[in-house]
Amino acid sequence: MTIPTETDVLIVGGGPAGALLGCLLARRGIGVLVAEKQTELDRDFRGETLAAPSVVTLRKLGFGPALSSHGFLETAAVSMRMEGRRVFSVDYGKFGVDALPVDIPQPALIGIFNEEAAGLPGYTRAAGTACTGLLIEDGTVRGAVLKQKDGTRTEVRARLVVGADGRFSKVRKEAGLAARIQPMERDFLSLKLPRPAGWGNHAELIVDRDKHLVVLPTWPDFLRVGHNLPKRGMGALRKEGFEAFRAGIAAIDPRLEPLMEEHLRSWDDTGFLEIFTAEVDQWARDGLILIGDASHTCTPILGQGVNLAIQDTVCLAPVIARALAATPSGSVPAAEFDRFVATRRKHKTVVTRFQRMQERALAQHTPMGVRLRRARFSVLDKLPVKYAVFGKVINAPHQVDPADLRVHLAHSR
Ligand SMILES: Cc1cc2nc3c(=O)[nH]c(=O)nc-3n(C[C@H](O)[C@H](O)[C@H](O)COP(=O)(O)OP(=O)(O)OC[C@H]3O[C@@H](n4cnc5c(N)ncnc54)[C@H](O)[C@@H]3O)c2cc1C
Repeated sequence: MTIPTETDVLIVGGGPAGALLGCLLARRGIGVLVAEKQTELDRDFRGETLAAPSVVTLRKLGFGPALSSHGFLETAAVSMRMEGRRVFSVDYGKFGVDALPVDIPQPALIGIFNEEAAGLPGYTRAAGTACTGLLIEDGTVRGAVLKQKDGTRTEVRARLVVGADGRFSKVRKEAGLAARIQPMERDFLSLKLPRPAGWGNHAELIVDRDKHLVVLPTWPDFLRVGHNLPKRGMGALRKEGFEAFRAGIAAIDPRLEPLMEEHLRSWDDTGFLEIFTAEVDQWARDGLILIGDASHTCTPILGQGVNLAIQDTVCLAPVIARALAATPSGSVPAAEFDRFVATRRKHKTVVTRFQRMQERALAQHTPMGVRLRRARFSVLDKLPVKYAVFGKVINAPHQVDPADLRVHLAHSR
């Protein structure tokens, strides 16, 4: 395809953040180019959970019918078992949010955004196109260099470059925006199994000392299972062999044993995720802003990655629209994003702080630590305050002006 050499906004990365932002800006008539390095949307083992506030917002943005016509799975509750005892549960219906969290595969979600945007005037999506560098003049980002799969290089000039290129963001690096990477003590291995009939639709965390499984019913008829690994433990795990790995999982949740025997054949049926958080002090510079995982990589605990990405995007779209309108030519100054960054940083800090606390709790391995952990969760389970504690992390309302949501909706197709 021929890539336009000029646009208002160049979005690097077509994940949930980049794809939704491209769509929302195009709805407002803003020229957008979304450059996505992958040719296919195919991405297994990614965050598939849409937190309830994201579901509410996407409905308000007019994506409800597309979500329903694709299909998704609502999650009714989450429960925690520790060393064989049920210690904690939360009923998602009791949070007073107008939706339940839903599971929908990422390719489907991104496809919904892309489909809505396709054909809107001024919108271009370039798949198989990677950003390899930025155009920086007098300290201001003026665009980027894109490289297509066939090797064609194009310099694209834009009034704003948005780095939505995920946890290893090239844009962040090229812009010199330093990230403090904090590795967690453990990494994560994911697998998918068919969901037996009658399994139910509540998420489970099953903990046995310092080992745990996250078992998530997902659309259409799967279970997503996540298993923690010691840091850089993949090599040792492989050395022990695949059978030993399956046996380890079955020891934590014996219900999975027959499913794994039939459907989990090799390491190729698993996906590895290195767990770290990335703290980025500066999310913007003149002509550039970072969103989603590029500005704040978090851990998979409570499935907040996609939620944060969507919240960033919905907050940012009106800010960009106003900034472009206020300066009819030239780059968008970094100062335009000060409020956006402060607001979004506050939310992501709440999430990452909770995730670190939870990770520390899950990593307990001494007999005393394990007993205390169980006792703490059992006590918390009996207190109504648990809804306030969890709600703050998973149900932070989208900080977007309802008038802006109406503008987005008014321009939907
Ligand atoms: C393997 C894996 C498993 C995960 N599992 C979970 C989970 O279980 N629960 C959870 O909550 N979260 C999980 N996450 C995180 C979650 O998927 C992210 O938080 C969420 O997708 C963030 O959206 P994003 O759009 O910011 O970034 P991403 O979804 O990472 O999208 C970034 C996009 O940018 C593209 N890109 C990268 N570099 C370039 C470049 N130079 N040029 C052009 N395009 C580029 C990538 O191909 C990608 O499509 C997982 C992530 C990964 C990678």
